Amino acid sequence: MKKRTILLAVSALIILVIAGAAVFLWMNPQYTFIAGEFLGARREHVELDVAEPNGLREYTLDELKSDDRVTFDQSMMLVNTTYTLADDYVPEVEPYGDTGVIMNVSMTEAYKSLSSAVADKTGERLLVSSDFRTAEQQKEEYESSPAVATVPGASEHQTGLALDVYVPYYASYGFLKSEAGRFVDSECWRYGFIVRYPVYGEDETGIVFEPWHIRYVGMPHAKLIYHSRSTLEGYISSLADGVWYSCDEYIFSRQTPSGGSLLLPETFRKAVISPDNTGRYIVTLTV
Ligand SMILES: [Zn+2]
Repeated sequence: MKKRTILLAVSALIILVIAGAAVFLWMNPQYTFIAGEFLGARREHVELDVAEPNGLREYTLDELKSDDRVTFDQSMMLVNTTYTLADDYVPEVEPYGDTGVIMNVSMTEAYKSLSSAVADKTGERLLVSSDFRTAEQQKEEYESSPAVATVPGASEHQTGLALDVYVPYYASYGFLKSEAGRFVDSECWRYGFIVRYPVYGEDETGIVFEPWHIRYVGMPHAKLIYHSRSTLEGYISSLADGVWYSCDEYIFSRQTPSGGSLLLPETFRKAVISPDNTGRYIVTLTV
């Protein structure tokens, strides 16, 4: 064969391979999307500054519980095999309309916003395949499939803060083949949710990528976790005890209660206080 013929054949082959790969990626948009998530391609620069609020004083938990500005919830609880739920843990859950879905009371409004955004942006109806599980249900789940289910007490589903979501025909890893799945994974932070086991998070979470398992943490934490390409484990451990941080209109701190009291400024508009399940509280204020 002449050199020229070989060259032509090789070029045609290369073009064919490139075109094949392009068609494959076009038909399977989830791969480029996952690569983008892994590399943090959609990350924005978020400022997390140390804050020094004026007029800090001690408030007893009882005093805070009767303060109109304060909401106690469970939104920042870290639940995993290291920090399991206490035996006397009481989930704060409620039905989500008449859908049969049970979720944590702290996220009902946020989930409503997320699912209507999914409908608006993609025309799809976001559905839930797994919601709140009682300790008893988690035990049954673990006993029937110990290889994939989490040990009782270590599943976020027992708090009602986690939901496994899908859209018709696209569930599990196939979720990201749908526009709705990619929207949920890249935009749910705007509504206070995180993909709890992100594609880059296995070292910290110990759990492989689960694009369908979303977890409510609220603002500004969801925004900070997503854009810092972190996990709930990594984020919570990065918050130094007693230090105040600021992000957007929020200031927050992770505190060990001293003598049953927390330190908050004298003036603030609203506060959300959640135990973090490591013995501390995360106090998030709107100033
Ligand atoms: Zn799940």
